[in-house]
Amino acid sequence: MANRPTKENTTVCLISLGCPKNQVDSEILSAALLEEGFSFVADPAQADVIILTTCSFIQEAVQESLDILEELSAYRRDGSCRCLLVAGCLIQRYGKDLRRRLPDVDLFLGTEAIEGAGKILARHLRGQSRQSFFLSPVLRRPKHARPLYEGRQALAPWAYVKIAEGCSNACSYCTLPKIRGPLRSRPPEEIVREAAHLARQGVEEINLVAQDVTAYGRDLEPNRSGSLAALLAELEQVQGVQWIRLLYCHPAHLDEDTIAGIGNSEKICPYVDLPIQHVSRSILKAMGRPYDEERLRGLIESIRSLCPDIALRTTVMVGFPGETERDLEQLLSFVQEIRFDHLGVFCYSPEEGTAAFSREESVSDSEKWDRYDQVMALQAEISESILQGFLGTSQEVLIEGPHEEDALSLKARTRYQAPEVDGCVILPRAIPRGPGLARAQIVRARTYDLEAELLPDGPPA
Ligand code: SF4
Repeated sequence: MANRPTKENTTVCLISLGCPKNQVDSEILSAALLEEGFSFVADPAQADVIILTTCSFIQEAVQESLDILEELSAYRRDGSCRCLLVAGCLIQRYGKDLRRRLPDVDLFLGTEAIEGAGKILARHLRGQSRQSFFLSPVLRRPKHARPLYEGRQALAPWAYVKIAEGCSNACSYCTLPKIRGPLRSRPPEEIVREAAHLARQGVEEINLVAQDVTAYGRDLEPNRSGSLAALLAELEQVQGVQWIRLLYCHPAHLDEDTIAGIGNSEKICPYVDLPIQHVSRSILKAMGRPYDEERLRGLIESIRSLCPDIALRTTVMVGFPGETERDLEQLLSFVQEIRFDHLGVFCYSPEEGTAAFSREESVSDSEKWDRYDQVMALQAEISESILQGFLGTSQEVLIEGPHEEDALSLKARTRYQAPEVDGCVILPRAIPRGPGLARAQIVRARTYDLEAELLPDGPPA
């Protein structure tokens, strides 16, 4: 006789797509399942339940989500999987229309339902609920505390910490305010508690994320001292957290208190992620980004004067409607002048529901990719020459674990490299050791990565 299925013998495979903010949502979802007693497997072929957390920021991400769902649906159709659950941005963006498009999916969870995923799934598997769609307006203040790591060994020595949800900016190309709702900052004490909890589990680096990290606290009552600078000061006191990094700083909102806080701190990494998107006045205006090239130059000068060894990351967008060859040249010459340490490029994608969607596209797809290549080729030269400057230096590095592409090497990062998006430090033929801080001598520079040898004396006191 077949065993009656219980939560304990129901295996779940969770596949997470999208950005760091989505990754945090996936961790919250995992936590909700673990609390209910479900266990995880890595292979969807072995899973009773398959969960996909989706991204729908741009059409490319939507398509990726749909393609992967099509592959996963095969497990549902052949009966090896009892439940296919889709969560996240895709549901929030397209709502109940998806039911028709995705007939093999059993449960649809919007971003607000993620914290309740464990109970929803358990009820569904027991046949106690026929509701398949869980979608509510995105208005609640996020309230997660990452029980994922409770009583377990942390998997990595670093983590993302989401300090706010939603965005109240109005960039004309962006769907996120509609998908994720307006800015809702988490109370500082909750964030500090989460950081302390992660530190107790072995996390040494926390990376603060939000749609716009620099908008943090604007929506909190004034007596909650809810500014980013104040939050950073509190996080610096958390025992065990050694590195704190800021990602997604809006150039119009990064204030002097925060910059000074970075410059004066031992723990806040000398690193600012400043997505500028463009420098052409007309393009920035059409994008709804309230600054211009002069203001950006002034901001970067001020960052560099207050934090001389800062590493700057940026993101730019090419092919926005109306972008001319001259606008592109202006962007390239700014990139050349500023010499960002790290840079990512997006090709503009017209997204339904955004203000820019009604603008007539003036740059063809092949021109967009040509512009993309031009910016990336320039950045490759800049990156290589900046990394040459590290040769022979000794750096504090955070060892993450074995390198994904070479099991004989360890993968690490300096304070100047963020996880996942930037290059890394490769430690070839290093004696295997656990994750954590160490000291290394840089011996080689590649285009985006450094190679180093571990020094015997460990992290500085
Ligand atoms: S700051 Fe602009 S690009 Fe970023 S999430 Fe908000 S609206 Fe979108």
